[in-house]
Amino acid sequence: MPLPLIADGFVSSLPGDPDTRNVPRQVRGACYSKITPHGFPHARLLCYSREMGEELGLSPATLGEELFIQVFSGSRLLDGMRPYAACYGGHQFGHWAGQLGDGRALTLGEVRGKSQANWELQLKGAGPTPYSRGADGYAVLRSSLREFICSEAMHALKVPTTRALSLIATGEPVNRDMFYNGQSKDEPGAVICRVAPSFLRFGNFEIHAARNETAILKQLADYCIAQHFPQLDRAADDLYARWFETICRQSACLIVEWLRVGFVHGVMNTDNMSILSLTLDYGPYGWLEPYDPNWTPNTTDAEGRRYAFGRQAQIGWWNLLQLGNALYPLVRATEPLEAALASYERTFENEWLRMMQAKLGLKDAQAGDAALIAQLPPLLHGAQLDFTLFFRHLATVGATPLQELPTWLHDISYAPSLGAKALELWHWLQRYQERLRQESTSAATRAAAMNAVNPLYVPRNYLLQLAIDAAEQGQLNKLLELHETFKNPYTEQANKAHLAAKRPEWARHKAGCSMLSCSS
Ligand code: AMP
Ligand code: MG
Repeated sequence: MPLPLIADGFVSSLPGDPDTRNVPRQVRGACYSKITPHGFPHARLLCYSREMGEELGLSPATLGEELFIQVFSGSRLLDGMRPYAACYGGHQFGHWAGQLGDGRALTLGEVRGKSQANWELQLKGAGPTPYSRGADGYAVLRSSLREFICSEAMHALKVPTTRALSLIATGEPVNRDMFYNGQSKDEPGAVICRVAPSFLRFGNFEIHAARNETAILKQLADYCIAQHFPQLDRAADDLYARWFETICRQSACLIVEWLRVGFVHGVMNTDNMSILSLTLDYGPYGWLEPYDPNWTPNTTDAEGRRYAFGRQAQIGWWNLLQLGNALYPLVRATEPLEAALASYERTFENEWLRMMQAKLGLKDAQAGDAALIAQLPPLLHGAQLDFTLFFRHLATVGATPLQELPTWLHDISYAPSLGAKALELWHWLQRYQERLRQESTSAATRAAAMNAVNPLYVPRNYLLQLAIDAAEQGQLNKLLELHETFKNPYTEQANKAHLAAKRPEWARHKAGCSMLSCSS
């Protein structure tokens, strides 16, 4: 299987762990530990991404073959692969957690893609590493399927994300206590191969700062900048401050994109924040169904709601503050760090307004738009409207005055009836239509532009759970259907109405269909 492997810069440029024992421990003075994956003799391919394979130079024939399964389940290494697990730390739920690291992930190597981009190939769930702490290093099928589907769906939604190449069943059981109630059971195991220009997280920098390893911190920062931030002048005096500011601005743009599509990450710990501002580590994530800024899909977060939909921008700022603290030894002044954090806020505000104007089809920006937009979330919340379907249907409203409230508004509500909210929605629609009449674009052009930013198909948790239930019984049709449909989330597809439906009532409280635990 020809893979254009390139010299692995991370391993050759940065200090590694001299200790080669694969046992849980503190790894000091190193950015990674080398690992030899053991593989799974009974591995079986469940799904792959043709598009990702193509970019990596893998032909469709190669994608299903035995060697592919062996390599991407960790049973066999290709020439040039030098697998490693990265060392990182992180702030989890607001508290410094010390060393975390790739406890069940390992990078196989880097590949030069057809687009000339460099891609890191990483297995998740292939077995323990020195960073596994008390855990086993494996992953269950349900969480792996969720990461596989959502990574590729996010890419198609045009939200920056890590990608996924393959989903492989290991053929071996993994024991999990899914509800944290002492009732653990064996579940099918799986490995995904995920792909990104880099999996570096805020936590990769935080760990060296926390350990006063300033020389390594600088080495890692220099490596990261040289590889992934070519736009920065590496000779500039304020290089690290400018780098941090770039990360701040890119992070703001990422979170605006999450808010555009109604995505809730669910575990925005600093070890899950990508330095490249990609959506990273798909765990108990979710998609807004009834609009509620306070909604979190993560059962562990149900009490504090730290990672709820409407708090993501604020948490992004807090996480960047932690990264800024970690980079202080390189910047050696607080002012530029504070200025960068302020640019996060500015970028977020500007981009959020632009994004909302686009969702509403407002092309010729006006001063009153912010007020019109601000009136909408409380209405969506009060009327319990489905976030995705509301914005998708909005393109059908147009500027011609309505005679009555459109019936679709009743259909997309999770409330038994709209009640008094109907009148409020009616008034808002009147104001919205009035505003549309001041637009210069044609109704058809506007509807097309709105449909290009308001998706119809998103990986709702209940849809994923149905695919998981079937896959666990050996039925892959639902998984494959989701994978195919989510490739074109903005285009209405024949016979796919069931994938664009609001969450059915039976799914409201069923495990995995709305909220999820972190167990994976
Ligand atoms: P997460 O909550 O998935 O972002 O994981 C937080 C940390 O726990 C990371 O260091 C993971 O590598 C580690 N981790 C999570 N699950 C496992 C597992 N089953 N085995 C080993 N490490 C794990
Ligand atoms: Mg993680």
